[in-house]
Amino acid sequence: MSLIVQKFGGSSVADAASIKRVARRIVHAKRAGNDVVVVVSAMGDTTDELLELANQVSDGPPARELDMLLTAGERISMSLLAMAIADLGADARSYTGSQAGLITDGAHGAARIVGVSPGRIQEAIADGAIPIVAGFQGVSHDTKDVTTLGRGGSDTTAVALAVALNASVCEIYTDVDGVFSADPRIVPAARKVPFITYEEMLELAAVGAKVLHVRCVEYARRGDLPIHVRSSFSTHEGTFVLSPEAIATAIAEGRAMEQPIISGAAADVNDAKITVIGVPDKPGEAAAIFRALADASINVDMIVQNVSAAATGRTDVTFTCAQGASATAKKALEAQRAVIGFEALLVDDQIAKVSLVGAGMRSNPGVSATFFTALADANINVQMISTSEIRISVVTTVADASRAVQALHTAFGLDADGEAVVYGGTGR
Ligand code: ASP
Ligand code: MG
Repeated sequence: MSLIVQKFGGSSVADAASIKRVARRIVHAKRAGNDVVVVVSAMGDTTDELLELANQVSDGPPARELDMLLTAGERISMSLLAMAIADLGADARSYTGSQAGLITDGAHGAARIVGVSPGRIQEAIADGAIPIVAGFQGVSHDTKDVTTLGRGGSDTTAVALAVALNASVCEIYTDVDGVFSADPRIVPAARKVPFITYEEMLELAAVGAKVLHVRCVEYARRGDLPIHVRSSFSTHEGTFVLSPEAIATAIAEGRAMEQPIISGAAADVNDAKITVIGVPDKPGEAAAIFRALADASINVDMIVQNVSAAATGRTDVTFTCAQGASATAKKALEAQRAVIGFEALLVDDQIAKVSLVGAGMRSNPGVSATFFTALADANINVQMISTSEIRISVVTTVADASRAVQALHTAFGLDADGEAVVYGGTGR
């Protein structure tokens, strides 16, 4: 008998009819002979609505209270789902994150899981019941307060539980058919990717593909747990996120095709670009800039330093960070202006990071040449470049981003013959 963890996103449990549909699906998996553990997100837009309410009663809701409030969303869906399952004649029991043994640190709003003690979940399974766990929440090991894992965190709850329970797979049910080679709303010929490695999925999740929470993929990789991303609105197979070894086995057994060199392209329009103009070209300057940013808790992504002008002995340093952090970054640098000795700061938030990801980049020459030729042919100007072993990212204007993704998708032969089915989903 195998143990399956099934996670249902907000759009899959948006109303009573959806909850009943999901309940049937869960009971079906149980009656097929599996042990099933379920993790749910809050119904539809509940989390956003609760946040909105909090902001109406307070100018700065205390983080502890905000977490207490937001975790209520998942408690509503978990108990309703348990009721719907009971109606189908099966035994379902709902548990909060704390009851399910999800122990976290005390960072309200962005807590990290530090341990999972799923004793009560194991007891329920042993009784033949279906445990329904509230996603996105836990309890702090030191303050004993209720915490949340950050937006989209139910994916991480599901994977953490699946690893702790030694499940055979974690199925993430959403409103799209899986992971696509590009956002089908930008590239109509995008195709579903049947198999993808943890590493590629991590890179894609980090550069704007919104299907999975980044931490959930990190967790699955560490536990070598297969993830199956699929739609709760169809019975199609979705995307399997696996280790390279597991994919090689699937290919050898004829369950998977040879992996393409490139798995996908994505654009992220949530970054800002900051240029520090006229930085004296001497040792310690970059250190001073990035120390000031680190002290203000700014996550820096790409960095470029220009060649200094011989006449002035000064150079420009450009970096990107999240748009939401650009005001703080600017303030932090202004405060150090006299120490660093730069001339001016330029902030541009009309930028996009366009990325191409594929494990095949490691072993196939010419990927960069094709990449930059495709952008050149589309007359798209590149402002910054950064790479990892399996990713190339460039900064373009926001206006060019969709065209850039489309051009790369075509240049790397990823276009499907037909159009992708779009249910209008958001990947929740
Ligand atoms: N309900 C939470 C959110 O909207 C957690 C989740 O859906 O995974 O972010
Ligand atoms: Mg989600």
